[in-house]
Amino acid sequence: METITHYIGGSTADTSSGRYADVYNPALGEPVARVALGTAGEVDAAVQAAHAAFPAWADTPPLARARILAKYLQLCQQHTEDFAAMLTREHGKTLADARGEVARGIEVVEFALGIPQLLKGEFTDQIARGIDAWSMRQPLGVVAGITPFNFPVMVPMWMFPVALACGNTFVLKPSERDPSPSLLHARLLKQAGLPDGVFNVVQGDKVTVDALLEHPVVQAISFVGSTPIAEYIYAKGSAHGKRVQALGGAKNHAVVMPDADMEMAVDALMGAAYGSAGERCMAISVVAAVGDAADRLVDALERRTAALKIGDGTALDAEMGPVVTRAAQQRIEKLIGEGVEQGAKLVVDGRGHKVADRPNGFFVGGTLFDHVTPEMSIYKEEIFGPVLCVVRLPDVGSAVELINRNEYGNGVAIFTRDGGVAREFVRQIQVGMVGVNVPLPVPMAFNSFGGWKRSLFGDHHAYGPEGVRFYTRHKAVMQRWPNTASAGAEFAFPQMK
Ligand code: NAD
Repeated sequence: METITHYIGGSTADTSSGRYADVYNPALGEPVARVALGTAGEVDAAVQAAHAAFPAWADTPPLARARILAKYLQLCQQHTEDFAAMLTREHGKTLADARGEVARGIEVVEFALGIPQLLKGEFTDQIARGIDAWSMRQPLGVVAGITPFNFPVMVPMWMFPVALACGNTFVLKPSERDPSPSLLHARLLKQAGLPDGVFNVVQGDKVTVDALLEHPVVQAISFVGSTPIAEYIYAKGSAHGKRVQALGGAKNHAVVMPDADMEMAVDALMGAAYGSAGERCMAISVVAAVGDAADRLVDALERRTAALKIGDGTALDAEMGPVVTRAAQQRIEKLIGEGVEQGAKLVVDGRGHKVADRPNGFFVGGTLFDHVTPEMSIYKEEIFGPVLCVVRLPDVGSAVELINRNEYGNGVAIFTRDGGVAREFVRQIQVGMVGVNVPLPVPMAFNSFGGWKRSLFGDHHAYGPEGVRFYTRHKAVMQRWPNTASAGAEFAFPQMK
């Protein structure tokens, strides 16, 4: 069985820990590889390699850095099918979904190619007599990324293309569930001409994460994952003096108004709730059905959910693959049971779903609940599976109230034909990313991504202009050149003359 190793200073390296974790193909329910679980010493080796590579990389002109990324972009396009095959094998998502993930990652590289423009500072001539002022942004040094299982190609690409373009060097700690894409990124970056040590990968679990959080050389941490871990990363990373952005979990609502285009709304909800088996931080997991929208909606969703095509992600007609692990499958099925016990109406039950030629796969069928209320655990918890909960509400005001009370604030959508209602909703809602008749309002690479409330700890959102700010420090310069005889020392506080 293949062993997935670290990548430090331009070469792969196994761990000395003797610890490994199995990497499963979730459709088969069998291990297909094992991944090294690194040590603090291996984290130190990666950080030192990145530290040694930093001065030369930071000194490389931004356009030269962008040209290496341009070559990497081309290689990513050529290797889209390799990335997609890895995603389907280790994560389980369908090939079509996997290709979409790769494309959304590539967009961030396209954004990062504009780095000479993005790093431009401001300049004011003659801010005071004989003095000019300007600002510049400089890289931080060694920065690290810690990423989740659900987008093992794209989420690292939210981070390292921008970080590298800004002149930083990088250490990636990918999810141990689906680690293979991290090494393909490393190989393609090297092939594109990236100097050794600029990009490193340490495989592992909590041991490697803690070593990164505590390492004095690491200047900044970007994290994406579940809320309890995001909060931990933010607290511990900040306590160690690092800049931290930690993106957490979600419970995303879609409000469906009675005047919505119902066919459009149902199509959108099917993809947003069940695409990638619901394992997306922007997945819609709650529908707030307003007034008489509810009966029509539940009726259509029931038929469509029961007819979902579920199978191995490599099957061309599969709409949904398995969930990532046996533990995830059991946790989701347990939550479905709690929904029933707590009084929700189970309209479509996905428990015990079997796929004929994949008897051991971690499958959960599409599940639909109606008459869900905010006290139920299926409403409160992030299920991260193919479970959609319908909450019935009398008006848009109560939908806004419900959503604003929720501890998460990642994504939200409203389906309506009324521009006035949509406009007011957008203004009032306490959520970071809002869709109007758009179910998954994931900003493209040129705008930044991030939630509010317990969906993000830290100040800066990911990628886009916020990513450039996160990975650089602002410097303000005041400059005077002597060109006349000095007027002598001044002891009063300097003012504009
Ligand atoms: P996770 O929090 O379990 O793991 C994320 C990373 O943290 C992994 O690299 C893992 O190895 C590490 N980790 C896990 N436990 C740790 C611990 N105790 N101490 C230190 N490090 C630890 O998340 P996951 O299950 O891989 O991913 C799913 C979660 O990620 C969901 O909650 C989802 O909403 C969230 N997510 C959020 C976004 C976003 O942009 N807000 C995007 C994708 C996923």
